[in-house]
Amino acid sequence: MKFRFLLILTIGLIILSGCSSKSISQTNLTFDTVATISLYGTENREILKKAFETLDVLDGELDAFSESSIIGSIDSTPKSVSPEIYDLIRKNIDIAENTGDAFNPLLGNLIELWNINEPDVHEAPNKSDIEDLLVHTDLNSLILDDKTLSISITDPQTKLNLGASAKGFAADTLKEQLIESGVKSGIINLGGNILLIGSKDGKDFNVGIDNPDRESGGVIGILKLQDKSIVTSGNYQRYFTDSQGRVYHHILDPSTGYPVENELNEVVVVADSSLEADILSTAFFVLGKEKSLEYLKENYSEENRPEVLFVTDDTIYIDERLENHFELSSDFEEKYKVEKFTIN
Ligand code: AMP
Ligand code: MG
Repeated sequence: MKFRFLLILTIGLIILSGCSSKSISQTNLTFDTVATISLYGTENREILKKAFETLDVLDGELDAFSESSIIGSIDSTPKSVSPEIYDLIRKNIDIAENTGDAFNPLLGNLIELWNINEPDVHEAPNKSDIEDLLVHTDLNSLILDDKTLSISITDPQTKLNLGASAKGFAADTLKEQLIESGVKSGIINLGGNILLIGSKDGKDFNVGIDNPDRESGGVIGILKLQDKSIVTSGNYQRYFTDSQGRVYHHILDPSTGYPVENELNEVVVVADSSLEADILSTAFFVLGKEKSLEYLKENYSEENRPEVLFVTDDTIYIDERLENHFELSSDFEEKYKVEKFTIN
């Protein structure tokens, strides 16, 4: 990707506790963001080099904005893709269907119309242009052929965009590669999309949770976890302002074509799979808290259910299973009350 918008997220802030004997870390720009990979128990820089090579390859394949990428070139002519990319698109569609289109990977043309990756002041698109494109986001226009692993889109005005899941997919792919190279402990941080490998010397990693306030920044609290992915979606991550000072953020409500407006500023999902966490955090941001809780209840058993943290203007709602892993920053004790919820 071309760094249309350089995203530096503070959730990327991992507050390291204790010190591991050997460790290496590298930060590169990829996936339109700042990516840091930190490995513990090794000093083999070749592993890091290969990791970033893999990220660059995946970025090139998944970039919706490039017509020469696999994703950008999907049109009405069926094209076979790798089993991994096929499964990625299948998973996107499954969750899109399950969320009643709240999550929709076919918003490509609308996302381009909004020019959301351009942070400089610009105007929101015309309502009529939004409405014209909104009719071209129908999930039925994407045709998946399980036998040939080919994909096509019947509507020429519909475009695939995996912006809401590509980093999660990349993190999972990278984790597999790192484990094959013998890595037992590390952090993959793709612009705030975190995947923890193992533990830090047998202890939890500390993962900072962003303050969703666009001006003040910082970290509202810490999640202490091992071997999990922690992914955040929020209205403060990518946005632009128009000439009147109105702010438009990057997560679109597929029922209106406009940025989502609900009580949420931020959703954090904790899951084993980074792809799952990435898709769900975006989906839950669109669905809002209550519908997200229903979704979790209906679609997961107790054992494989991801955990979620929702942030509104004044409350952090946290799954009771995460409660003992979360520490509110003292600076935010007056701003936020923490309320736990139970899903049963
Ligand atoms: P994330 O940062 O993972 O929450 O994903 C947000 C990105 O996904 C946006 O920058 C868009 O590229 C794309 N997107 C926006 N709205 C949606 C939506 N409702 N469903 C799927 N992808 C979306
Ligand atoms: Mg996402």
